[in-house]
Amino acid sequence: MRCSKAFHPTFRDDPSDAEAPSHKLLLRAGFMRQLMAGVYTLLPLGYRVAQKITEIVREEMNELGAQELRLPTLHPRDLWERSGRWDSMGLEMFRFEDRRGSDVGLGMTAEEVFAHLASELRSYKQLPQIWYQIHTKYRDEARPKSGLLRVREFTMKDSYSLDIDEAGLDHSFDMHFKAYRKIFKRIGFEPVAVEASSGSMGGNESIEFMLKSDAGEDWIASCEGCGYAANVEKATSDLPSEADEAGPDAPEKFPTPGVRTIEDLEKFEGGAPGSRQIKTLVYKVDGKTVLLLLRGDDSLSEQKLVDTVEGEEIRPAAADEIQEALGAQPGSLGGVGVSDHFIIADEALRGRTNMTTGANEDDFHLRGVSVERDIDIKAWLDLREVKDGEACVQCGKALAVFKTIEVGHIFKLGTRYSEAMGASVLDQNGKARPIIMGSYGIGIERALAAVVESSHDENGIIWPVNVAPFEVVITVVKPKDVECMEAGERLYDALKGAGIDVLIDDRDERPGVKFNDADLIGFPYRVTVGPKGIAAGVVEMVVRRDGETSEVKVEHAAETITEAVLANRR
Ligand SMILES: [Zn+2]
Repeated sequence: MRCSKAFHPTFRDDPSDAEAPSHKLLLRAGFMRQLMAGVYTLLPLGYRVAQKITEIVREEMNELGAQELRLPTLHPRDLWERSGRWDSMGLEMFRFEDRRGSDVGLGMTAEEVFAHLASELRSYKQLPQIWYQIHTKYRDEARPKSGLLRVREFTMKDSYSLDIDEAGLDHSFDMHFKAYRKIFKRIGFEPVAVEASSGSMGGNESIEFMLKSDAGEDWIASCEGCGYAANVEKATSDLPSEADEAGPDAPEKFPTPGVRTIEDLEKFEGGAPGSRQIKTLVYKVDGKTVLLLLRGDDSLSEQKLVDTVEGEEIRPAAADEIQEALGAQPGSLGGVGVSDHFIIADEALRGRTNMTTGANEDDFHLRGVSVERDIDIKAWLDLREVKDGEACVQCGKALAVFKTIEVGHIFKLGTRYSEAMGASVLDQNGKARPIIMGSYGIGIERALAAVVESSHDENGIIWPVNVAPFEVVITVVKPKDVECMEAGERLYDALKGAGIDVLIDDRDERPGVKFNDADLIGFPYRVTVGPKGIAAGVVEMVVRRDGETSEVKVEHAAETITEAVLANRR
């Protein structure tokens, strides 16, 4: 490709409405344009990268024996009703009515359609199967943002495993886990594998692949010592035991005018630090009032609550419900003396004495509270969110808590969808058994953005060779200089002949403009062909990642560059 003929529109300044580095850089470097909120056009450079990522994903899926097929993106309402997700997906699913008045949904994931297809299978002998597609998905995100990281239309590789038993599912899941590791490594980053909540997918086990990035929105806790990693919503840690004084024989009530928060009570004279306070939250579980007690300086992980407490509807109680249940407003609540509501305490409160908590009377608190002596606790649970620096439960090293982007997610689904769609096969004994499914996804554009998030500097993007839009750019310093241009053309032809993805910058622009563009777009290798060098029989080769510059004799240039590129293809 020649730059003079290419549509590679770059611009100098950061777009004002972009924050994430990948959002800014992919716009500036001419990889994409926004059409509307969360909907993007991939320009030629962006599309080349997306194609390379797609090809890596396809190779690794084929390698594990998966078969590629293509589903429609228009899904009939009936299938989604059978799984119960026509309702539960809510506004996130794009829907419309066709001319005959039938409801249609735009595919946001395809468990229903794959399970429906699997209902053609008849015998266990046809299993296992792994089917996949690489196709467009639609999700009407509430807050599309950060460029390609959170969009409403995107390409996803989604695969589905079909097995006769749990052992088969475990194997399919494990194969995907390993394939995903390889895929991400080849694309150019290494995410942390995290056990996750399955959310709307249902099923009993799922692993998310999370890449550390400030542009992300999901917090994870991870241990460098032993590899433990978990979503902050689920992570646990070892807390040092607190040395409490015994305190008085019974709690003492004291006035705390205007004190409404943990922080207020920390500053209040005669108050207590957050670690010596009991925070009282009120929830409604299927209409019943439940008190949740946590250490004052801890936060509730609502996910842990949902995961451990049985209930159809779990939600924070409203102010009037709290007033009715406890006779006070948030800020003055506590569990002491409460006997008509279920009380759950976080494990971090076990054995604590001489604590301070609300008195269920506005503007009053109680001090000298011994948790187990004074509060009728019905259940002890792990409800708190872990914090950076707390000890790993497995090895004791300090956990790091950081923001991440989800770049892949694998689920053990079980039989939820196969039962709903009637996908069962006859087993060895001639008995019908529902097929056991797994589902596995990687977003192509998100992976593209994730590479940029993890590989850029102040000058632009730094593409790994494997997914670079072009592996090499030949920058002809003076295209009007015949010798210079001819030398550039010869090198261009030689590299193309060697199977290298090469671009020649033959534009009639100042060299500085071309160098800046090359750095911004992020080609792994730049070869500068200039009049002085050609006179001396050399070209200059620059490695984008570290700026390493070397002179190469013109006659060896094609070979040297080819070797460098091939050494970095994976
Ligand atoms: Zn550890």
